[in-house]
Amino acid sequence: MIHCPTLAAALLSAAMAHPVAGDDATAHFLANEAVLVTAGETRILFDPLYIHFNGIQPIPRRIKRRLMAGEDEFEGVDVVFVSHIHDDHFDAEAMLRYMRRHPAVVLVAPSQARPMMETERDWDDGLADRIVALPFIVEPMGFVVATPEDPRALVIEAVYVPHAGGSNWASVQNMVYRVTLNGEITVMHLGDATPDEAIYETHQEHFQAVRTDHAFPPFWLVTEWGGDVLRERINAESLTGIHLGPFPPVAVRASDEDFFTEPGETRDLHAHE
Ligand SMILES: [Zn+2]
Ligand SMILES: [Zn+2]
Repeated sequence: MIHCPTLAAALLSAAMAHPVAGDDATAHFLANEAVLVTAGETRILFDPLYIHFNGIQPIPRRIKRRLMAGEDEFEGVDVVFVSHIHDDHFDAEAMLRYMRRHPAVVLVAPSQARPMMETERDWDDGLADRIVALPFIVEPMGFVVATPEDPRALVIEAVYVPHAGGSNWASVQNMVYRVTLNGEITVMHLGDATPDEAIYETHQEHFQAVRTDHAFPPFWLVTEWGGDVLRERINAESLTGIHLGPFPPVAVRASDEDFFTEPGETRDLHAHE
């Protein structure tokens, strides 16, 4: 793991009071690639705010309302992660509104996300201090985000893995995040990562350095490689496929692997032995 100097100062503190919660880690599915992971009082969101359009699974109103209000399972969110800036993963306007409403939340996103937010009407420069904008580089990056309870509550490693679809999307910075919460449980979110094996070879050392307890890959990595190959390649104990619309493809329906399909579904997460 390489510590990126531009991120060395990104030791950020989330100041909001947290609700009391159990010790167990849980993944809550919102829709598409939007996942909330909670571990005690540490809470993180992946790709939670995006533009709803045809063919993409929307977040139901009842969930979206609680998310924006910071209620129930969404109370005291520490960090929001964005994998890449495609409309079905990122809505700059909604993200800006969310960050203004929740002044302790830190945003971790590809560098491409920040200029999109800066051009929004409600942007103010104070928000920049709460954004970790990851440079578009090949090497993995690592940094830590503190919460009120734990200065090392969130140990984050990010690596650029190209977007699926080959050269069509070569200009889109898709980040794969590996996050350890409270030193207890490690999760991985892969955004729209490519099934091209070569890049995983390139980053083999990164993937093998830390065991992931539970990964959230786009479903095509599961259906193209099979669960066993995928788990081995990214060094994950278990996984739940995401990015499924209302009509999962046949390969998903025929698979024995686990997928999130219904908004509101949850999974208990367990640290590996
Ligand atoms: Zn995409
Ligand atoms: Zn997508």
